[in-house]
Amino acid sequence: MKSPNHHPVPLDILQEVFGYSAFRGQQAAIVDHVTEGGDALVLMPTGGGKSLCYQIPAIARQRAGHGVTVVVSPLIALMHDQVGALEEAGVAAAFLNSSQSLEEAQHIEREMLAGRLSMLYAAPERINTPRFLAQLQSLYERGKLALFAIDEAHCVSQWGHDFRSEYLSLSLLHERFPDIPRIALTATADDITRADIIERLQLEEARVFIASFDRPNIRYLIVEKDKPREQLLRFIQDEHEDEAGVVYCQSRKKVEETAEWLRAEGINALAYHAGMDSELRKRHQDRFLREDGIVMCATVAFGMGIDKPDVRFVAHLDLPKNIEGYYQETGRAGRDGEPAQAWMAYGLADVVNQRRMIDESPSTEEFKQVQRGKLDALLALAEAIDCRRVRLLSYFGEESEPCGNCDNCLNPPATWDATQAAQMALSCIYRFHKSHGYGFGAGHLIDVLRGKETDKVRQYAHDQLSTWAIGASLGEPQWRAVIRQLIALGYVVTEGEFNTLSLTESAREVLRGEVQLSMRQPSAPTRRGRGSRSGSSSSKPSRASAVEADLDDEAQARFDQLKAWRSGVAKSHGLPAYVILQNVTLAELARVHPGTLDEMAGISGIGAKKLEAYGEAILEVLNGD
Ligand code: ADP
Ligand code: ZN
Repeated sequence: MKSPNHHPVPLDILQEVFGYSAFRGQQAAIVDHVTEGGDALVLMPTGGGKSLCYQIPAIARQRAGHGVTVVVSPLIALMHDQVGALEEAGVAAAFLNSSQSLEEAQHIEREMLAGRLSMLYAAPERINTPRFLAQLQSLYERGKLALFAIDEAHCVSQWGHDFRSEYLSLSLLHERFPDIPRIALTATADDITRADIIERLQLEEARVFIASFDRPNIRYLIVEKDKPREQLLRFIQDEHEDEAGVVYCQSRKKVEETAEWLRAEGINALAYHAGMDSELRKRHQDRFLREDGIVMCATVAFGMGIDKPDVRFVAHLDLPKNIEGYYQETGRAGRDGEPAQAWMAYGLADVVNQRRMIDESPSTEEFKQVQRGKLDALLALAEAIDCRRVRLLSYFGEESEPCGNCDNCLNPPATWDATQAAQMALSCIYRFHKSHGYGFGAGHLIDVLRGKETDKVRQYAHDQLSTWAIGASLGEPQWRAVIRQLIALGYVVTEGEFNTLSLTESAREVLRGEVQLSMRQPSAPTRRGRGSRSGSSSSKPSRASAVEADLDDEAQARFDQLKAWRSGVAKSHGLPAYVILQNVTLAELARVHPGTLDEMAGISGIGAKKLEAYGEAILEVLNGD
């Protein structure tokens, strides 16, 4: 059944169907390998262009008579738009999910069994049903099963951050239909997760394609928390007015509160979390995808599979669990390749909370140990005084040079020698334990170091300790930073309900003066009422997003007209605007200003079907009066 000679040329499909002139990066190699019937595991960052890696082989194999490709995708809420985008490009695609009526589902099943579909999208729980497996069996026996594409493949691994038990049974596909090629794709996987995916999906024979994880258009900014909501508001107002963004918060309550607060401040913000009524949640997601400039406040429940290309920023008000999560979440910004920002505010409480969540989780000690290691890597990133991107990429096993597009590269932070301060804090913690047999929390520690007479100080007679007031010359924010970094570096741990501090074995190195601690200077305290900038960088990315940046006034007017036209089309098709045509394509149309269909055919993003469907209307918008 593998007859490479008869496959249409993938590049022709790319140009004809999708309207793109060339493959990016490893796409060509992946597409060739899979079209020829090989198995593949593809690791590519968000926005790297994973979809085409299975869509083009699917089309090629169907045209060569191999039948349908089954695409496993975890989120039924997004299948409608994914399939809509393929239909817009003239590809016979459909989905099966629980949102459909029995008649609709039966119609699609008939289309599939008759070999009229290139691609069928389905959730893993559907694939494991006896009915669906029987249908696959029937296709298989007739040689009409072309390919399995498993999207978001990290969901099969417990080390990934989105484990879904239904994914485990996908190994069944290989057991039942051993000679059908498979392609598994993910944007996130460190070494353990990678190995786990291969083992659980039985992809030992697959060729592994690992693209660079760099997202050069994303600028990384990490600021110290100091009235985080106001920091966030300034960041949005100063740098992302009227642009689409996502604000991640840890709890549902905080999601609601943040959205409400931002709305009161005049930001077009919505909430999204798993505890919301599912209708409302879907409505918010649809609005985010379909309208311009919405800020979505969300828990991590929001995002996987959201392929809106023009998200201009992703903000974290709470520390994620690990770098994979951080990278995955921030990666949702700037899929279109235009400048975007990843902003995070973090502080002492984040460090303490994340540690406690690990400690208190019901998992095995081995699992906790892995989680702690992952958190440590994230803390090191947050405390870093050198290039954030170099650290991010090295976490994923890539070497790189300082990027020039992160906060630390743009504004190298001031540092100070905190060795002595660290020793003071550590010996004070030691004194607490020595005198009482137990520890105290960070707040009290700082009071004692600074010599602040509180009730608690009097109660425990801590003004009698040798460490009383030895750190009076440093301010409270500086002490908080020192303690946070001591925890981040593993010299101090927090324990119990009151987050009391204790020394670890390695604290000795610091006390003996064997290590020197260079720390990031805490940023100046917020000057309220004077509109101070967001503690981030002074050079903000070009406004009105780069897509429109080089349009002159006339081209800008054409761009705006095209957008208005597109919005009407999108509404009548019930799809997000970017599924009809992306902003990049509209901008190029506005710039090139084609006068004929032939001239328009060369524009990136306009394939044969779109030219046929929209060409005349676009000429009318551009040239009609
Ligand atoms: P991923 O699934 O890896 O996050 P997508 O498949 O959504 O990425 O692709 C990201 C964006 O890049 C999409 O807008 C897509 O149309 C565009 N794209 C992908 N490959 C190409 C290409 N070869 N030429 C031009 N644009 C491309
Ligand atoms: Zn950098």
